[in-house]
Amino acid sequence: MNFQEIFNQKPETEASAPGRVNLLGEHTDYNDGFVLPTAIPQRTTVQLGFSKDRQHHFYSVEFNDRASFFDSDRAPKGFGSYIFGCIKLLQEEGYKIPTLNVFVTSSVPIGSGLSSSAALEVATLKAVRSLLNLPLDDVRIAQIGQQAEIQYAGLNCGIMDQMASSLADTNSMLFLDTRSLERRVVPFPAGAEILVIDSGETHKLAAGSGYNQRRAECESAAQMLGVKALRDITDPQAVEVLPEPLRRRSRHVVTEDNRVLEAVQSVSAKRFGELMNASHASQRDDYEVSVPAVDALAAILQEIPGVFGARLTGGGFGGACVALIESGKADAIASVAIERYHRAGYKGRILVPNPVIA
Ligand code: ADP
Ligand code: MG
Repeated sequence: MNFQEIFNQKPETEASAPGRVNLLGEHTDYNDGFVLPTAIPQRTTVQLGFSKDRQHHFYSVEFNDRASFFDSDRAPKGFGSYIFGCIKLLQEEGYKIPTLNVFVTSSVPIGSGLSSSAALEVATLKAVRSLLNLPLDDVRIAQIGQQAEIQYAGLNCGIMDQMASSLADTNSMLFLDTRSLERRVVPFPAGAEILVIDSGETHKLAAGSGYNQRRAECESAAQMLGVKALRDITDPQAVEVLPEPLRRRSRHVVTEDNRVLEAVQSVSAKRFGELMNASHASQRDDYEVSVPAVDALAAILQEIPGVFGARLTGGGFGGACVALIESGKADAIASVAIERYHRAGYKGRILVPNPVIA
């Protein structure tokens, strides 16, 4: 299916945005902390045309689904909520948005923790920016995308995914202070590259999931500790006064921030990998966002020679593992990992660096 076949017109413009994988700094962004993502090669593309009636029309190739809305409609459910949210928020910023035909196609894995949702928001916003020449920079685009996800998709997310999708590239990591939005491009550790394997357990992050609950726990913990956000705590000992489970949740956030800050000090690939392994244990034991399949996959990866470290990446409750591996060994390591993972009774698939680009 293409734009012409769905809307019977040619697109006026298009924009695309990548998914992302986070190397370190998980669940720190909504605590004003530090993150270290990179863009993945897979991208979401949004094409736009002017709709001839008074409704917006959205079509997604991946969902093979169409949705139509009046401006005055309440927020829709499903994939339309992300696009509708972006349009609504631009209107709230004071921009006059005509009714649009929106065509979405993507090679970003959906629901695997590589942020297809942010890629959809950022691609939508960049396409509308291009169509209407809106004076929005890439940071503003990320902020509006985040608000679309919070207000319209019901996920009380931080800013990492949209900042990574809007600003990161595939050749380096984006070290981001999510409080100040100060950022620095950081090279991968010497001699290392990235491997991402999907656990086969699709996560569901939006409303009703443990994600929003974790965020609320962090806010309670910060309040009890008398700080604006957990980012303001640097000594892990300081969280020991909290009751459980707030103590373990906070311990994860504080130690995770410290791991990111160490990782950007030009550490070796070996040390970076140790920090990733520690991050996985912390997500599993203290933050409790892993699942047995992901734990099995991380453990398998961590044992393979040539792997510096591996961890759950993304919001958790399923999703993918990212590993830092010796450059040039991706195929060999991936096939051993997949073989062992399948023998353990699970079904995984390689997402990076061997993507099946649609
Ligand atoms: P992740 O961002 O980790 O992939 P989320 O649960 O946050 O997972 O977001 C996935 C949701 O984003 C999908 O259920 C869908 O609503 C929307 N989405 C992402 N990519 C597309 C796409 N190509 N077409 C339509 N909807 C999409
Ligand atoms: Mg998402």
